[in-house]
Amino acid sequence: MSNVATAILLQHSLKSLNLTNMARHIEQHLRQAKDGGIDYAQFLLELTELELRIRSDNRETRRLKEAKFPLLKPLETFDFEAAPVLDKRLMRELATGEYLKDKRNVILLGKSGTGKTHLATALGIEACRQGQRVRFVTGYALANELIEARTEKDLTRLIGKYTRLNLLILDELGYVPFSKEGAELLFQILAERHERGPVIITTNLGFADWTQVFGDPNMTAALLDRITHRAHIIECTWDSYRLKQSLKGRKTAAKQTPGHV
Ligand code: ADP
Ligand code: MG
Repeated sequence: MSNVATAILLQHSLKSLNLTNMARHIEQHLRQAKDGGIDYAQFLLELTELELRIRSDNRETRRLKEAKFPLLKPLETFDFEAAPVLDKRLMRELATGEYLKDKRNVILLGKSGTGKTHLATALGIEACRQGQRVRFVTGYALANELIEARTEKDLTRLIGKYTRLNLLILDELGYVPFSKEGAELLFQILAERHERGPVIITTNLGFADWTQVFGDPNMTAALLDRITHRAHIIECTWDSYRLKQSLKGRKTAAKQTPGHV
């Protein structure tokens, strides 16, 4: 068979096997193998590794997009010096994703501006890098989405979708109180996920104040019982990063304009 015919048939086989990245790069690799005297096993290893690497990169990009993070803030951009009592070892352990396998929840509690959303996003990004299906949503937006779905009789599908995620990140739980319906539906999601899939929650409220948000004290107690079971509770007690940055900015500006009061 001529070289051209072989190349055409090879392209066809690779595409039929869904090895599209190998198909795209095989010509160049064949040339390099010929010129460099690379043996068959090495050649095949390099091409299959390339296919796997591109697939994994594409999956990560897809997972990051599906997660709908408001900002892509990875752990590398978190300044641990600004959060002196944060357990760095725990954060590193969480970044490995072990808690996802063990179905442990993470609850970040603390004042506004302390980096709760940043940390939750960073852990979510790590999970995406590990190929996990993640969704970031505020508590308020999720409650509204569920209420809307109920009127469209689409609720079962939506609850299924949120239950199947490998990681659900519920941001800003407690900033806005839920309607009775919203609280019940959110409770349903968290109950369905209990021991099935982990949740990361960020909140400015201490547990004692959760009844204010969920309304019913019995439901709140049942919810807290479930989500705090085997959870990592991280108390963000340090100063607001945002506030510190703006104070720093003001001081610098004052220094640059002498005489300014
Ligand atoms: P919270 O959710 O606790 O209100 P955010 O995570 O929204 O706080 O943080 C507010 C802003 O400050 C964000 O832009 C965040 O990236 C930044 N930030 C907070 N803490 C840190 C930190 N330790 N290192 C770097 N940036 C931080
Ligand atoms: Mg936040």
